[in-house]
Amino acid sequence: MTEEEITKGCKTCGAVLVISPEDIVITCKYCGSTFNIEGKKVPDHQMLPTLKERSIKDNVLKFLKDNQGVTRGLDQEAVVNEVKLNYIPYWVCPFNSNTHYFGVKQSSVTRTRTVSDGKGGTKTETYSVPIYRPEEGDFERSGREKIIARKYTAFYGFDNFEKKLNLDKIEGFDFSKIKSLDAEFINAEIDSEEAAKDAYGSVENENRKIAGSKVNRLVRCDSQIRVQKPIYVHAPLWQVRYTFKNQVYKISIIGDSGTICKGEIPLTTGRKLFNYTMGVSILIAGALVGQYGLSLLNNIFNTSTWLAYLFMILGGAAVALSFLLTRTAFKMQLEKSQ
Ligand SMILES: [Zn+2]
Repeated sequence: MTEEEITKGCKTCGAVLVISPEDIVITCKYCGSTFNIEGKKVPDHQMLPTLKERSIKDNVLKFLKDNQGVTRGLDQEAVVNEVKLNYIPYWVCPFNSNTHYFGVKQSSVTRTRTVSDGKGGTKTETYSVPIYRPEEGDFERSGREKIIARKYTAFYGFDNFEKKLNLDKIEGFDFSKIKSLDAEFINAEIDSEEAAKDAYGSVENENRKIAGSKVNRLVRCDSQIRVQKPIYVHAPLWQVRYTFKNQVYKISIIGDSGTICKGEIPLTTGRKLFNYTMGVSILIAGALVGQYGLSLLNNIFNTSTWLAYLFMILGGAAVALSFLLTRTAFKMQLEKSQ
């Protein structure tokens, strides 16, 4: 226990829980009971189901096997040391909204005019004129905003977890289903009122964005937004550590689908050296091809210009490719997702 931690007794089973002073909704890791800091039970606690540890491990092995091309022997030599389940807290906020917008829309009309043709006569040419007209409209939008109930989250791969997480299949929180998985329940630092306010803000922003896409210049946008009572949901994020040639690497996985949100793939010294050599060779080849193209361009008597440009473009592409290859040569690992 660090100085920043305090203890709290579980209202249901009496177990002593170590929490941080920022925590305002607490889940007991022994009985699954979920209550707020005043000890009041949180109603309608939901969870996203998770695959079992065995399936998560299988997905990790498949991921390593798929990346053997990068690191030879990865699926044979990698050893999975740690598989840990964290339940991340969210507030799911059902909403509906009506938006009225007003703006300016630009279009153009084609006109014709008669001009001199330079040979004493006239000719007709067409031209386009921009026209602006006011545009207004309404739209209705409803859905569920998911608001992370933490002020700060430091889990590996969390950014991708957020992006890929789908909370459509949530169900009532049932501790007996997940008890054996020894999950860590992350407590909420944001309460339901604050979450509802955040949801209101993001619904408004999204509505403004939609309205903005319907006109060229948005003048006014009014949204009437109703956010219903937020639902407290725990979503499963698995964190895996594995060892390969005495180095530890991390993988993070979404529990319900088993999708790898982010995973580190080792780059061996041999691989790095190979990339470096390839990168430098391609760089030299690219420079030579580009140079050849440039010399063709100067020699205007016997070649076509497009051939010269083609060589110069090829040269440029080779230089870009060599940059990508040499860059990976200086990294310890690559990061991949599914
Ligand atoms: Zn308890």
